[in-house]
Amino acid sequence: MTQRLDFFANRVAMLATMHRKEQAIAPLLESHLGVNVAVPSDFDTDAFGTFAGDIKRPSDQLTTARLKAAAVLRQTGESLAIASEGSFGPHPQIPFVACDRELVLLIDRTHQLEIVGEYLSTDTNYRSQIIHSPADALAFAESVGFPQHGLVVKSGEADEHILGKGITDADKLLALVEVALGQSPHRAARLETDMRALYNPTRMAVIAQATEDLVRAIARSCPDCGCPGFSAVKQFPGLPCSLCGTPTLLTLAQLYRCQRCPFEQRLPGDHGFSTADPSYCPYCNP
Ligand SMILES: [Zn+2]
Ligand SMILES: [Zn+2]
Repeated sequence: MTQRLDFFANRVAMLATMHRKEQAIAPLLESHLGVNVAVPSDFDTDAFGTFAGDIKRPSDQLTTARLKAAAVLRQTGESLAIASEGSFGPHPQIPFVACDRELVLLIDRTHQLEIVGEYLSTDTNYRSQIIHSPADALAFAESVGFPQHGLVVKSGEADEHILGKGITDADKLLALVEVALGQSPHRAARLETDMRALYNPTRMAVIAQATEDLVRAIARSCPDCGCPGFSAVKQFPGLPCSLCGTPTLLTLAQLYRCQRCPFEQRLPGDHGFSTADPSYCPYCNP
């Protein structure tokens, strides 16, 4: 603990957000690291992509978070930045289940550190639906946690455009739906859940879980020099089958590397198993 406090205590951590992510992130980082989280007043994260699809994300999730962190450091002249980035889509292992992968990144220019926290949750209301009537709209709204969760209304035709975002008022929703249906020859409109953190308390909770993972990652310090953020940089497959011992694709070991000194360590995979279930075995279950 002392070691980490030495690194971060009483420093200003600039949070690259305009969607009130400080609500999820600031209390955890302030209590665990002793930093003071600050949000720049005029930081435009929409330049790095929007969920409603009007601006494309420039790159993958981690690279986009790095770009946001670099931009906030440039803009403010500070040395410590926090950026977060979410991604929504089908779960990688469970088909037809939507999931939210949240990433929270710490960049420390003073100590040349980059530490990542991550969380994958199936607790998300990420959904989109074509509707044909105000009744359809209300049914969709109710199923996704409206009005605590905001909605996006789009025209329902091929060249979709956004009629309204961040909608948390039923009258406003119905008025926009009427406009969208009236513009459409097929009386179709598209409704989407607004995934911006300030309109989505479910997502805000997953961002807090990713922040907790970041706090854990920072707490893993190098056994040799004590530098925070001793992290896995490489995975080795080959966890043996519990029946026949054949190596499987599951992680056998991970290589941890210090960001400051040359110290490296090979440790078991973080799933907590010493053998694999035979259902993963290419010999027992081809
Ligand atoms: Zn070290
Ligand atoms: Zn086997």
